[in-house]
Amino acid sequence: MKIGIIGTGYVGLPTGVGLAELGNQVICIDREPSKIAALKSGKLTIYEDGLEELFTKNVQSGNLKFTTSMQEGVSDADVVIIAVGTPPHPVTKEADMKYIHAAATELAEYLTRYTVVATKSTVPVGTGDDIEVLISKKNPTADFDVVSLPEFLREGFAIHDFFHPDRIVVGANTKKAADIIKELYKPFEAKTNLLFVKRRSSETIKYASNAFLAIKIHYINEMADFCEKSGADIREVAKGMGLDSRIGPRFLNPGPGYGGSCFPKDTMAMSYMARQNGVEMSLINSAIEGNRQRKKQMAQRILDTIKDIPSPQIAVLGLAFKNGTDDCRESPAMEIIAELINQSKNIVAYDPKANDTAFKLIGNKIKYATDMYSAIKNADVLAILTEWDEFKTLDLSKASQLMSSKNIIDCRNLLDPEQAKKYGFTYRCIG
Ligand code: NAD
Repeated sequence: MKIGIIGTGYVGLPTGVGLAELGNQVICIDREPSKIAALKSGKLTIYEDGLEELFTKNVQSGNLKFTTSMQEGVSDADVVIIAVGTPPHPVTKEADMKYIHAAATELAEYLTRYTVVATKSTVPVGTGDDIEVLISKKNPTADFDVVSLPEFLREGFAIHDFFHPDRIVVGANTKKAADIIKELYKPFEAKTNLLFVKRRSSETIKYASNAFLAIKIHYINEMADFCEKSGADIREVAKGMGLDSRIGPRFLNPGPGYGGSCFPKDTMAMSYMARQNGVEMSLINSAIEGNRQRKKQMAQRILDTIKDIPSPQIAVLGLAFKNGTDDCRESPAMEIIAELINQSKNIVAYDPKANDTAFKLIGNKIKYATDMYSAIKNADVLAILTEWDEFKTLDLSKASQLMSSKNIIDCRNLLDPEQAKKYGFTYRCIG
């Protein structure tokens, strides 16, 4: 099939690479000329495990192309996938639809034959209807259907998740469009659930899923607080809970709060949407507020360890919102660092992949190290904020010699508490 993908970010690019790998002819469109120039010259614009190899392979085979021209990407496509951002509106916190509306309006005039327009962006319920109106207004003779095709990939595992999805949800209101999407995802038919639902249900499934996972994280974080006070161990508690198949073991790792480009904005958008429909979602609202407080609490934990040290130095390991990605959007690390900056000017951070993306957000308000040991040298406290495997290999004997004061706040429970104590650290983990 011929596919045009609008938006070449964390969703659009892995989706384009995956669909090209399945044998489709894919053109990725982005309005940012620098992104397209980099991709055309063979340089990836994001980090994702396993992306580079498939990207290079499919560019070389000619299955994957890049352009800034909407006409080039859309006019010959069977399916046009919209994967532009839907960030929170600065005031109301609802999903800001300006990129979606712009993309729909821009693509409309290039629809020259029957085309399925699919939204992969996370969009509020009813967006499919709005896109239909926008396209028909701009191009009254356009022959098209709009389907909702929500994306469930996890950043850091985007390529894995593309090829091994738990489910593919399709919200199509016509059989013609549903059949085309069915054909596109035929390679997955035997091994995954292909769920066809009403378009509005599909749009809601995405928000309902993300809000549920955010609540699960908030829940285990509250349970970790309880364990700290009651003498239980959250790792044992989570393990015991996760063995119940009704609960499941995933999303039961306590930490510094959820972050990233999805959960914070999608919970706020869901809460807004619910209010617009006259429904108050108290669980989601509680998770939003609890998560906001959590990052402040983590920053306070770090500051408490150095309150008696004049001109303390803080080492931070981990800037990305999770492992496997360079994405720092709404990363707990970014928000914790913002709190720390107010109190201490001396922060040295290291992330295996996200130093550059963090620099774009916070610039030289902190220093960046090129490895773990340079970051912790002369530090008075080490804060571990992202769950990179590399941090588990930290040589505590070496760390104890390099640091000025032996304090560790392990917000990801990566280190062995007994080992930390053995080398003289005051060690605090979560729960
Ligand atoms: P992103 O910001 O990384 O990428 C969006 C891209 O769209 C940018 O490169 C931007 O330049 C481009 N763009 C915007 N308007 C355009 C236009 N009119 N024409 C061409 N290009 C345009 O965003 P993302 O993280 O890939 O997220 C995209 C959508 O997918 C969001 O709605 C998000 O909620 C959803 N989503 C994201 C994830 C994730 O893990 N990041 C997972 C599931 C769903």
